[in-house]
Amino acid sequence: MQGTVTDLSNLPPLRDSLAAHGLIANKGFGQHFLLDLNITRKIAKLADLKPDLTVIEVGPGPGGLTRALLETGARVVAVEKDVRFKPLLDDLVAASGGRLSVVFDDALKVDESRLLQDRPGAVVSNLPYNVGTALLIKWLTGPFRPDSLTLMFQREVADRITAAVNDDAYGRLAVLAAATVSARKVMDVPAQAFTPPPKVTSAVVRLIPTPSPLAPDLLESLQKITAAAFGQRRKMLRSSLKTLGGEYLCQSAGLSADRRAETVDPSEFLRLAQALRSRTP
Ligand code: SAM
Repeated sequence: MQGTVTDLSNLPPLRDSLAAHGLIANKGFGQHFLLDLNITRKIAKLADLKPDLTVIEVGPGPGGLTRALLETGARVVAVEKDVRFKPLLDDLVAASGGRLSVVFDDALKVDESRLLQDRPGAVVSNLPYNVGTALLIKWLTGPFRPDSLTLMFQREVADRITAAVNDDAYGRLAVLAAATVSARKVMDVPAQAFTPPPKVTSAVVRLIPTPSPLAPDLLESLQKITAAAFGQRRKMLRSSLKTLGGEYLCQSAGLSADRRAETVDPSEFLRLAQALRSRTP
């Protein structure tokens, strides 16, 4: 980069930073950049970060959202898989006054508590679409307990996370989310806001983990039940849950075995999971 960068206020525009480092988006890494700081600032504001939190940002890329997060005064640990961004992100680290560190790794594999060094954390990310759902499932089912997660997904995925029973988008992801977080869609972002534009509209979802997490064995049973039930979503539970003991589980949970997965609400799925857990030796 030309000149000396001393703080966030004199960083060059993101497009210039990308051009200066000869960087273009790589589809294989799900790269769709937000280069408009008005949008990234809005996302950082929606994240509503408490002052003591350290933010984990997955995929800083050229650093537009990272800049907006740093502007709020937050500390940020960014995890980026594409090492091409190192020189550009080094400039941002230099301008961050010691509040940004960047780890070049696969976010699916990192241990978030180690990244945070046991400090309280939140996640904010314009997620790479190709691994967005896998990352969300990792956070919903793993030991990491962030204060909040503010995440950009394809809108179709955002709808699957926030769907209610009987909605078309209702399925495993909605049940898992309802059992572990409160989730709210907070902003739609049109495709043209990204460089390059994706084929679909995106949406930001804000998730707050529930105060008392489910026991790991109950979560495991819930995942088994929902996988079986939604694997054959049009079939009656007696048949879709047959290999898990469908009739017995429904009876223990006080549900008719004639019901179909799409009509079973998250609290009923939890009762089925409890029945399965008590049955499993
Ligand atoms: N945050 C930037 C922005 O908003 O302009 C870039 C967002 S882009 C949708 C997704 C970013 O995630 C890219 O920088 C990509 O290289 C990175 N990425 C993709 N897969 C990743 C993974 N498994 N772990 C960490 N970063 C990943």
